[in-house]
Amino acid sequence: METRTAIHVEEAMERLMSLKKRGPVEYVPILECEGRYLAEDLVATHDVPPFNRSPYDGFAIRAEDSVHASADSPITFQIIDAIAAGEVSEKTIRKGEAIRIMTGAMLPNGADAIIMFEETDEWEENGQPYMALKRPVEKGTNISFKGEDTKQGEVLVRAGTKINPGVMALLATFGYDAVPVVKPLTIGILSTGTELLEVHEALIPGKIRNSNAYMVYAQIKQAGMVPKMFRQQSDDFHDCLTAVQKALQQVDVLITTGGVSVGDYDFLPDIYRELGANVLFNKVKMRPGSVTTVAELNGKWLFGLSGNPSACFVGFELFVRSLANYWNHSRKPFPELIEATLTKSFKPNSFTRFIRGKVDYQNGTLHAVPVGLDQSNMVAALSEVEALIILPDGEQSYEKGEDVKVLLLNHCSGNETFL
Ligand code: AMP
Ligand code: MG
Repeated sequence: METRTAIHVEEAMERLMSLKKRGPVEYVPILECEGRYLAEDLVATHDVPPFNRSPYDGFAIRAEDSVHASADSPITFQIIDAIAAGEVSEKTIRKGEAIRIMTGAMLPNGADAIIMFEETDEWEENGQPYMALKRPVEKGTNISFKGEDTKQGEVLVRAGTKINPGVMALLATFGYDAVPVVKPLTIGILSTGTELLEVHEALIPGKIRNSNAYMVYAQIKQAGMVPKMFRQQSDDFHDCLTAVQKALQQVDVLITTGGVSVGDYDFLPDIYRELGANVLFNKVKMRPGSVTTVAELNGKWLFGLSGNPSACFVGFELFVRSLANYWNHSRKPFPELIEATLTKSFKPNSFTRFIRGKVDYQNGTLHAVPVGLDQSNMVAALSEVEALIILPDGEQSYEKGEDVKVLLLNHCSGNETFL
């Protein structure tokens, strides 16, 4: 059997990132871009708002005309026009004149303040409308100024951002009917294990249902890639080899789960050798997922994730996700790193641990809360995992109340460096 050299997770990440590539750009209609990754920075192509406008329904006036207004001696203005949102008045306001203006309408010439309807009295005399004001209004009052929201040329959203409802609003604001997004990778999922049942099959002794394939399927989708499910395989070297070879013809990346350890029926290492794949690493000083293997063959990436559900989950989030984020043009492809206070003590370990957990804000403190049992074969608590609590390898134990580093998963503002 081959010997495996365990490397530190930072070293593994460095080797992994030697594969990094930016995905090509493709244009999709705006209504189809939600959840995709922006391939170019979104730059404001004009000021927002693009003209001075009224934020209220009211009257546009010249502030100087209101200087002497008071409750005792209101000042009367002659109403010379009315502007709805979307309209432009052709009139210019002169001394003592006002124009009715609706929310969103462009400020008319001559006006430098808006007074809300609620603050005025209105009447008509001989068919001529008037309004009166009981207080002075300062120049600039209630004007939503051109460019106050954003200035032309500003970078509003960075490439690599997952398109969310707010990004959609900006794309529409700047006229993107076709949106530059990253062309996704097709990632195959091939589960191995003689014990695996299909999801629709009834439980029988010794067997379990294949949960990894569905978990990884969802992880691939969240990473913005296209999953492709292959038929699960029993632990048979030739069947697995054939299945891997066939799958590789149909995908850019292949994720296998299970069979990557040192058991009698773990054939993945032999399969990599048979394929002549360039194995970047096959043992990482991390728990769970120490047997996580990454290889490359003819420009395609192969991820051999552990069959243990927790290990499989972590292997994906650390390695597949980081490379996927880079492909998606992220300048910060790694999970966001924060500090939080441990809520449970842990013994020392010779491998760096990535404890599945979540962060919780209580009484002014951010807590790092482990969920479920800290074992690689656990599946039950995975539904709650939002973060990986990092406990670096070494002699030291970790005490409840201690500050530790935590990786936030599936977070849009990631990190430029790993750990
Ligand atoms: P392996 O990595 O093949 O040694 O499998 C490690 C453990 O994970 C074993 O207990 C397997 O039964 C379990 N396992 C393997 N593949 C899956 C899967 N697709 N879904 C759920 N559990 C799995
Ligand atoms: Mg197995």
